[in-house]
Formats: sequence, C-alpha cells, structure tokens
Amino acid sequence: MWLHAKHLRMESSSELVAEGKLIGETTYPQRAAKWQELDLGIAKIDFFDPKTHTVHEVKKSNKKEDAHRAQVKYYLYLLEKMGVENPRGVLEYPKLRITEAVEWDGETDKEIVERWLGEAQAILQGSCPKKLPKTKCKKCSYFDFCWSGEE
Ligand code: SF4
Repeated sequence: MWLHAKHLRMESSSELVAEGKLIGETTYPQRAAKWQELDLGIAKIDFFDPKTHTVHEVKKSNKKEDAHRAQVKYYLYLLEKMGVENPRGVLEYPKLRITEAVEWDGETDKEIVERWLGEAQAILQGSCPKKLPKTKCKKCSYFDFCWSGEE
C-alpha cells in the first residue's frame, strides 16, 4: 500500500495479477453485457449489478481471506457514500466453486471501514515500512522490487 501510494506500480507486470484478471474475464464471459464496470475514481469495481446494487468480486485464490471481505466492504462503503442505497456484495471463488455474500451493516461497518482508513493514513504518513519476512511475500506483486538481488 505504501509503495502503491508513492506511485510505484508493479501490478501490470505481475503474472499473478494477470492470472487473476484472466480468471475474472474468462470464468463468466457473459457478464460484461449484464453488469457494468464501475470506476469510482479511487477504486474500480469490475462487475456491478445496477439493478440490485450488488458488487461481484471474483477471486482466483483457492482459499477465502479476510482481506477479500475487507476489499468488498470498502467498495460498499464508497458506494453508500455516493448515495447508492443498500449496497451489497458477493465474493466469488471459481476455483473453490463457492460464493459468499458480503452484507453492508450500515453504521457498524462504516465505523469499521473508517477505522481501517485511519490506520492506513497513519501508515502512509510514515516512512516506508520494513519488509515482511520473505515467506509472506511469495504472492506479492512487489516481490521482484523488494527481493531482486537478495539470496
Ligand atoms: S514483497 Fe513483501 S515486503 Fe515487499 S511489498 Fe510485498 S509483502 Fe511487502
């Protein structure tokens, strides 16, 4: 997040991100006609159903993660701030063949997301955080940036 905020972008060269995009585009090829891509300025939602106010987030991962739910909650937060009523989300895991509803719990979720944003802001105002242990970096798009040249 810190590197991204400093405009150091590695995603386009990341094979893992490319794989994720490919899965999103090929798993549900009929989607583009049915739902919309929504550019919120600070975030882009790949699939949004304007009739039901539902965000569909496709994950290539073969395990569910709290970060996935947090990402969708953040989208719902942004949508509600823009005046979209009763936004909701669905996480979709094609590899696991499961979907998971992500509800928006109004004030409670708003408080939680705003706390995350405060914590994120504190990180961004500091200097570059220390690297994580390498074992936690394998799937990070900044892997080459952080670890090239090291054994
Ligand atoms: S490669 Fe590791 S240390 Fe570098 S940004 Fe990613 S998670 Fe952080």
